[in-house]
Amino acid sequence: MIIHHATPERTLDALAARFREAPAGTRLEAWTFDDRAARRRAEGLLATRGVTARIRSAYKPIVTFFLEDARPGFTAARITYPVHPAAIANRFLLESYPLAALLAPATTEFLPGVSTDTYEVTLTYPEGTEVHHVFAPNRTHPDLEGAATLSPCGWLIADGQSGPLLTDYEALFHAAMDAIAAHRWTQEPYFEELNLALSIPADDEPLNHDDEALSLREAMHEDLYFSALEYFGQLSGRPIGDRHLQPGQIVPEITQGPPSLTVTLRRLATGDRMGAHQPLDAATAPPPTAQIRDELAALGGTRFTAPTRAGREVEARHIAGTGAPVMISSGQHPNETSPIIGALRAAQVLKDQGAAFTISPLENPDGYALHGRLVADNPRHMHHAARYTAFGDDLEYRQNPVALYEHGIRAQAEALTGAQLHINLHGYPAHEWTRPLSGYVPRGFAMWTLPKGFFLVMRHREGWGDIARALTEAVTADLSRNTALMDMNARQIALYGIHAGETGFEMINGFPCYIGHDPRHRVPLTLITEYPDETIYGDAYTAAHTAQMQTVLAAHAAWQQLASSDLLV
Ligand SMILES: [Zn+2]
Repeated sequence: MIIHHATPERTLDALAARFREAPAGTRLEAWTFDDRAARRRAEGLLATRGVTARIRSAYKPIVTFFLEDARPGFTAARITYPVHPAAIANRFLLESYPLAALLAPATTEFLPGVSTDTYEVTLTYPEGTEVHHVFAPNRTHPDLEGAATLSPCGWLIADGQSGPLLTDYEALFHAAMDAIAAHRWTQEPYFEELNLALSIPADDEPLNHDDEALSLREAMHEDLYFSALEYFGQLSGRPIGDRHLQPGQIVPEITQGPPSLTVTLRRLATGDRMGAHQPLDAATAPPPTAQIRDELAALGGTRFTAPTRAGREVEARHIAGTGAPVMISSGQHPNETSPIIGALRAAQVLKDQGAAFTISPLENPDGYALHGRLVADNPRHMHHAARYTAFGDDLEYRQNPVALYEHGIRAQAEALTGAQLHINLHGYPAHEWTRPLSGYVPRGFAMWTLPKGFFLVMRHREGWGDIARALTEAVTADLSRNTALMDMNARQIALYGIHAGETGFEMINGFPCYIGHDPRHRVPLTLITEYPDETIYGDAYTAAHTAQMQTVLAAHAAWQQLASSDLLV
C-alpha cells in the first residue's frame, strides 16, 4: 500500500531555471547535496547564459575544498575549524575526516577556532603561504528532545542575499518523515515492512583512503532509518533510546536517479539470502544462507532452533566435547559481515580439538536477508536497517519470556552447556558513519562514527572483574601476533586520534578495549568483538573473518586455563 509519493524538483535544475533570465555578469554561489560532476555541469550550463556560478558541496565542505579547490603542491595544511554552541566541540573536526590521511605526505594541523561557520585554511607552499576561508553552511533546529542542534544545509548567495536554500536532498528527507508522521498508526508493531524508496541523483565518490567515500545515498539511508526509529520510539511513549521498541522492519532503499520518494507498507519478505558458496577460509563476501545451513550440517552435533517474526529459523548446534564449554554466536547485527564466517571457521577447529561448545552463527536471519536485498543496490553502504530484526528491535534486549523469538536461541545454548563464557562476534562501520540532516554525528552511536581498529568489549558479572581482565589480556596477547591486524589498528587509531580527539578507551597489547561490569547478561562473561567490517570485501574481508576466528580460538584456549584458576570465585 502506497502511503506517499513525491518528486521534488532537482535543486540544480531549479537554480538553472531561476537564473535563466538573469542579467549578464550575474554571480552566484550555492551549496547543494550533489556530486562533483553534477555541480560542474550545472555551473557550465549557467555559464552559457552569462551567469558565473560556483556550486559547492554542502556535505563535508572542507573535504571537498581540498578535492576541488585547493591548489596542489602544498607541504603543510593548518586547518582552524569552527566551533558552534549547538554542536559538540569536535563536530567540524569530525567533518574534516579523513583529511589527515588524504593530504599526506603534506602535514596537517587541526585547531579549534572562534568562527561558528567557517574554516580557515593556511596552506604552505615552497614559495609561500595561502589562506582560504571555507564556509560550512549549517542550520540550527530542534533535536529529538527539543534542544538546538546543528545540521548541514543548502545555501545560496545571490542577488545581494545570503541564506539557507532548501535542497532536493533535504526536501526528500523531510517529505519522508512528514509522510510517516501523517499516517495513522495503531499499535506496536505498527507494520510489517515500512519501505522508504528514495532516488537521489548523486553518485558515490570514493576517497583515496581505505574504505572511505563521499556517499550521500548511504548517509540518507542512515539518517532516515534512525530518524524513523526515533519517531516510532516517541510515538510509543518509550524513553528516548529505549531498546525494547518494536515498530516493525524499517527499510530505506536508496537508489540513484532523479529525486523521488515512495513510502509503502508491505508484507515481510520471507526469501533466503542467495549467493554462491565459497570456501570458508578464503571467503571474500558474506555467504548465502544455504551455505550457513550446510556448514552447520557438516559440523554435526545437536541441532536447536528459534523462530523469527518473518517465519525464518535461527539454527544452532551443540557440540558435546570436553573441557570448559563456551557459547559462540554471530549475526546478531547482520550488516556486520565478518562474524558469521569467523564463527563457522572457529567451530570447525574447535570440533576437531574435541571442545565443548554451542555455535549459533546467524542469530538474526530476517536482518541478514534484508542485508542481502540492500547490498544488491549498494554493496559498499553500511545499511544499518539490516542491523535490526523484522520487529525492528535488537534481539539482545528482549525480555518477554513468551515472545523471545531469536533471543530464545541463547537461552537454549545456556541450558545445553552451562557455559560461563559467551563469545559474541560483531563489527562496526569500516568508514565514516554520519547523519547529515540530524546533527551529523549518529545519535547514541557517537563512539562508532569513525573506524578505530579491532575493538574488544568484555562485559562481566559483579565480582568477575579480575578474570575478565585476565581473559582480555590473554586474547589480545594472542591476537598481537597478527602483524597485519596490528598495523591496521595502529593506522586507524592514529587517524581517529587526529579527527576525533581523545580516544576514551583502554589499550591492551595494542588493542582498544573496554572492560566493564554489566548485570544485563545471564552468562557471567561476555566477550564481544568489534571489527571495522561493514562494507568490506575481498582480502580485507578475509582478514576480518580470520581475526574473528582467531579471537574465538584464543578466548576458548584462555578459558580452559582460567575456568579452573583461583581467579574464579
Ligand atoms: Zn553489532
